[in-house]
Amino acid sequence: MGILDALRNAFGAGGSSGSSGAKKAKEKDFRYTISREVLETAIAAARESHPHEFIALLGGNRRKKHISELVFLPSVTGGVSAVIHMDMLPIGMSVFGTIHSHPTPNPTPSLQDLETFSKRGILHVIIAYPYTMQSWRAYRSDGSLVELEVVEW
Ligand code: ZN
Repeated sequence: MGILDALRNAFGAGGSSGSSGAKKAKEKDFRYTISREVLETAIAAARESHPHEFIALLGGNRRKKHISELVFLPSVTGGVSAVIHMDMLPIGMSVFGTIHSHPTPNPTPSLQDLETFSKRGILHVIIAYPYTMQSWRAYRSDGSLVELEVVEW
């Protein structure tokens, strides 16, 4: 429940950087990379959050199609609204989508995940229990699986 609200607030806060209006990438252009360090950080955070869900935003360079940053959402579970000021992101950095964990071995997006995916960004990652480099999957905004290459930069 809290995740969608947090995202709504996060994406709504900055205005111009919201990616809900981003046009769909063409099939052949849908090749994204993620920094190994970013993925490992997210996996560690997922582990620490267990059995609760961890969620963050995927940030990076949209032109290079490279995910190089995790943007943490403050206080997703608390009653306080999570607010991220997108205009505070480094210049040239934009938000691709979301990354969150499932406390079960099932990395399949839930119905709520699919709703979130369709509205918030173009690329989403789910890290399932037991939170390893093998237990995550990447999805497009329509919930279909997509390859996401892990790179060392
Ligand atoms: Zn989920």
